[in-house]
Amino acid sequence: MVTQQSSDASFSDLGLAPQLLDNLIRQGYASPTPIQKQSIPVVLQGTDVMGLAQTGTGKTAAFSLPILQHLMAKRGGPGPRCLVLAPTRELAIQIGDNVRLYGAGLGIRAHVIFGGVSANPQIDALRRGVDFLVATPGRLLDLMGQGAVSLSAVTHLVLDEADRMLDMGFIHDLKKILKHVPSKRQTLMFSATMSPAVQELAHGYLTRPVTVEVAKRATAASLVTQEVIHCDAKEKVSLLVDLVRSRQVERGIIFVRMKHRANRIVETLEKQGLPAAAFHSNKSQNARQRALDGFKTGEIRLLVATDIAARGIDVDDVSHVINFELPNEPESYVHRIGRTGRAGMSGHAISLCAAEERAYLVAIERLIQRRIPVSE
Ligand code: AMP
Repeated sequence: MVTQQSSDASFSDLGLAPQLLDNLIRQGYASPTPIQKQSIPVVLQGTDVMGLAQTGTGKTAAFSLPILQHLMAKRGGPGPRCLVLAPTRELAIQIGDNVRLYGAGLGIRAHVIFGGVSANPQIDALRRGVDFLVATPGRLLDLMGQGAVSLSAVTHLVLDEADRMLDMGFIHDLKKILKHVPSKRQTLMFSATMSPAVQELAHGYLTRPVTVEVAKRATAASLVTQEVIHCDAKEKVSLLVDLVRSRQVERGIIFVRMKHRANRIVETLEKQGLPAAAFHSNKSQNARQRALDGFKTGEIRLLVATDIAARGIDVDDVSHVINFELPNEPESYVHRIGRTGRAGMSGHAISLCAAEERAYLVAIERLIQRRIPVSE
């Protein structure tokens, strides 16, 4: 739970309906976080929002509570009135889980659709009717193509991890989807990082947006201590095993650039008696979900992942993020280390940097506007 970031204002001051307030009490949320305090009244008014917020700041409730309130006001037809697009399946599932908690007992039908699993249960759910739809772009386009879902009733559109949704990997799918969403709508975009070029693109989809910013753009999560260890690429595996033991890594995410390397590191860690699982896009959706569930329950101490785990995933008490390899996109560093130090807890980020990765380190330090302390 976010506690240290909470402010004195209460949720009821923000104009939320009593049923939503009851659900928040049930969640144990005592007061709104800064992003919630700023966004909720603006979204309730129907204004477009560009939200720049660090991970773990309560973004999901910041957009879903006021949208739920809009949806409560009117009964809908069979098609969704709110569409939330997210770049990864796990993030979509997590948003869906939160929306169901925040909107419990309101009669609002929330569903999540994502790839990698059978489409049939999703099609059945859509057929029964949906108000609040959370989706990854690929599966949504698939189901739109099959006529299983129409977006013609959408009045609220949210892009979570908006900079990722607007980059090369997703922009084509996004454009295809948006052709089917009415232009008369409220659009909200949330992201921890937003380059000037992406921001310009984003403004093309927003109408007179209010920018809500709770942390400086691309500042690294402030409760996370960071360090870098310069080493030889060949030494990294043994160094990693040493670090896991000597730093008492209780629950850590180890980031790599390549999927095959994630598998090999898992094998090594397991041989050393350290329970680990790989998490990357070559794994089946079931294997991904199993790894994440095991990691959440503590059965698996170490998750070895590519950058698909860098965004949005909310696991409490991740004590360490270890960058086995530095990311080639500096923004990814900010997202990766944001997996620890979540919800007001402290966290540690350790980066192993080989000589050939020095240029990546320079780019990261330029982005976060600080030097990362060097350890031996
Ligand atoms: P998010 O940034 O949406 O991923 O949220 C991060 C975490 O903070 C989640 O575990 C939420 O359940 C929790 N959270 C969100 N809003 C509040 C709040 N106002 N008070 C306490 N915890 C919160």
